[in-house]
Amino acid sequence: MVSRSSLEFKGVAASPGITIGTVYLVGSSEVQVKKIRLAEPLVEKELARLQVAVDATRKEIETIKQRVAQEVGFKESEIFNAYLHILQDPMLIHAAMEQVRQTRTNAEFILTDIKRQLVKQFQESSDEYLKERATDVSDVVARLMRNLTGQPMGFLSDADVDVVVVAKDLTPSQTTTMRRERVIGFTTDVGGKTSHVAIMARSLELPAVVGLKDITENVQNGDTVIVDGTAGTVIINPDIKLLARYRQAQQKMLQWSRKLKKLKGLTAVTKDGYRLTVAANIELPEDIRQARKYGAEGVGLFRTEFLYLNRRDLPSEDEQFEAYQIVTRQSLPYATIVRTLDLGGDKFLSRLGTTTEMNPFLGLRGIRLCLANPELFKTQLRAILRASHFGKLKVMFPMISTVEELRQAKTLLKEAQRELGRRRISCDKNLEVGIMIELPSAALTADLLARESNFFSIGTNDLIQYTLAADRVNEKVAYLYNPLHPSILRLLKQIIQAAHNERIWVGMCGEMAADPLLTPLLVGLGLDEFSTGPSFVPQVKKTIREIYFAECRELAEKALTYTTSEDTEAFLKAHLTKEVLNGLPDNES
Ligand code: PEP
Ligand code: MG
Repeated sequence: MVSRSSLEFKGVAASPGITIGTVYLVGSSEVQVKKIRLAEPLVEKELARLQVAVDATRKEIETIKQRVAQEVGFKESEIFNAYLHILQDPMLIHAAMEQVRQTRTNAEFILTDIKRQLVKQFQESSDEYLKERATDVSDVVARLMRNLTGQPMGFLSDADVDVVVVAKDLTPSQTTTMRRERVIGFTTDVGGKTSHVAIMARSLELPAVVGLKDITENVQNGDTVIVDGTAGTVIINPDIKLLARYRQAQQKMLQWSRKLKKLKGLTAVTKDGYRLTVAANIELPEDIRQARKYGAEGVGLFRTEFLYLNRRDLPSEDEQFEAYQIVTRQSLPYATIVRTLDLGGDKFLSRLGTTTEMNPFLGLRGIRLCLANPELFKTQLRAILRASHFGKLKVMFPMISTVEELRQAKTLLKEAQRELGRRRISCDKNLEVGIMIELPSAALTADLLARESNFFSIGTNDLIQYTLAADRVNEKVAYLYNPLHPSILRLLKQIIQAAHNERIWVGMCGEMAADPLLTPLLVGLGLDEFSTGPSFVPQVKKTIREIYFAECRELAEKALTYTTSEDTEAFLKAHLTKEVLNGLPDNES
């Protein structure tokens, strides 16, 4: 076999960890279907054959749905309701039956034709939800065709080594079938952090990188592949040196996570007794399991917009209440901070008109969108308030840029409270209300906002993008996007001081909070709470336990005197104590 050179791809880090395996390419299973004219007496038989295949497919989907509900979770199993709907859709089966009858043509040919038209219609839609349905239609029809032709599923059954699945996209039913096979990772051409495969991979704790654009065109079955789901990197046919390096990194990560998990029950306290909180960021209710597993002290950010994405309708008050209530209960004895809807920017919901803006990051995003749609907002607020009765829930507003916005949001919260009162539903009367500080305007007026808030959480992901005018998802300006830019450090200092002057606590839930190099600096600046992805919690706790608060204060003072971010970074690296350095995975012996 000709040896093929190494190729590296960058995509969206969808599920953390490193895995090394053999490529299993999942191609589109488009079969060539022949057109057959049926003699009149055979038409009824053909219709009966199609009906048998429809019944078998329905049973198959129901079985998968049940299995997913038991093994993965009820929420994930709901995806299969969409499949069952497609199967009942008159545009598919009814239309196919009609055409078989009228044209006296075989069912396979008719189905393939209808599928092509439906998929085209869905793909051309500007609605993200409908676009995603194209894959579902293809999957349902593929199952139907297999049942019509009597071909077995046979998926991956020939794999006798650990495989990394490489696919254009993976349907939920494919991912579910795979979980029983020897699959150790996923990579796909399309998709983002919230695509089905990303969600499923995270629940299965298998590394995954999605949004790789054309990886399927650059691999062959049997290639060796490294998936770094933490960095969002995929390497095909790495050379021996690179392979050895990743194997080592993989081993270290495994040892490291075993070691860190032992810290689960420990508190985040510095060597000189300064106590901090390390909480987790979560995106879906089931992520609370991971947060607890890694020893998070509650939820510092529940990004609720994920409940609104990938669907046609809006989540009802009851449905949202269920989600918030589960997390709030399961976080006890710690708090849960539920952030209200932050749609817009790169998280679109076409039915709210956010897709048509010229500059969506500067448009109707976060609290702006909610204030413009008070009924939508109040439905969420009522759900949050109802859940507050079941634990230590706090509410947080995103994208606040003026005191007026905060006041308006609080007025609607009061209205929602009154509405619940009329329904005789109890909620926490002293619900704490906090805001994200993620816009320069909010950072610069933090003193004014602090007077009317119970806490702050600094959203550095956005604060950096808006301060440096560097789009957080544009790799061309990534060189500018630096948390150590002096402007960011000055803003952080100012925000924290303003909060403490008003005696409110201040946390950070942007990615900056997860970088161990920056932990001593943030502790020194006076941050009270860190909130990171669940798997980063132990590292932050460990770093905090290795440092002295008094030393961190001096370090922070000095860090603010540098002119460039490179100099600040060099200074921070040089001043990491031996204990902290030894505690980083790269330096573990
Ligand atoms: C942030 O902006 O830092 C943040 C945590 O919010 P999001 O990443 O959801 O915008
Ligand atoms: Mg943000």
